[in-house]
Amino acid sequence: MGDNHPMTTSSDAPALPALVAFDLDDTLAPSKSAMPEPMAAALRSLLDVVPVCVISGGQIGQFRDQLLAHLGADDAELSQLHLMPTCGTRYYVHGAGGADDRSPGAIEGMPGWRLVYANDLSPQQIEEGFAVVEAEARRLGLWEERTWGDILEDRGSQITFSALGQEAPLQAKRAWDPTGEKKGALRDAVAARLPGLEVRSGGSTSVDITLKGVDKAYGMTRLAEVTGIPGERMLFVGDRLDPEGNDYPVLALGIPCHAVSGWEETAIFVADLAQRIASAGAGAAPDSGTAGSGGA
Ligand SMILES: [Mg+2]
Repeated sequence: MGDNHPMTTSSDAPALPALVAFDLDDTLAPSKSAMPEPMAAALRSLLDVVPVCVISGGQIGQFRDQLLAHLGADDAELSQLHLMPTCGTRYYVHGAGGADDRSPGAIEGMPGWRLVYANDLSPQQIEEGFAVVEAEARRLGLWEERTWGDILEDRGSQITFSALGQEAPLQAKRAWDPTGEKKGALRDAVAARLPGLEVRSGGSTSVDITLKGVDKAYGMTRLAEVTGIPGERMLFVGDRLDPEGNDYPVLALGIPCHAVSGWEETAIFVADLAQRIASAGAGAAPDSGTAGSGGA
């Protein structure tokens, strides 16, 4: 694929989407921070009219802390929400199959949410990944002594290296590698030693290791499978749709995309989109197959 699919804008979007997917960091919320209330309000109004997916390289705890804790959605709205942490290698839905806190796939601290599938790295892949990343980071002088939290994290379907630790303050993270040179060097060194896995630079200080072929295009493809909504009827909103960005694979896949520069812009766009879908009424395809809608 990789054709030059033009980014749509709010003014020339050809049709109303049957599902709207969002990146999390710097699209719905500031990086690693809480979703602000104006964004939450706009998202609730969108959930009232169309299924919504949030897809991010981050893990489910980040969705809980940044997104769900501030969303304020009711059960009907939550039933329209699809969560795809770690680029869709894990998929969560709310309220499906009468999930309670003791049902298989239930998540601690997230009542009503259920894991539908997980595509994880093997224990051997995790062990080897940890060893290789630490060795290469030390060799390149990138294994920092002053850190905030763990440098290496097993996210199940993803290993994440965070140079300054998971809890590092934003300012320190921004100052660590402003040109991306350090991350790039580590990425290349690790990739050469783990040819069976995908190694990518992630956030400001991070390098992510996943199964090969796992990026947001992978997640969006899985989303189309589980919802039955074809990609061309979806709309993806993200802040990094540039060719170097972690949202770019979605654009390259051919899914209609809308670029934003931050949550403020997303909130305005989403409030307007929700209104347009609501006024289109019957045209909004209320029957589009959300997961957990029960057997036919
Ligand atoms: Mg982002």
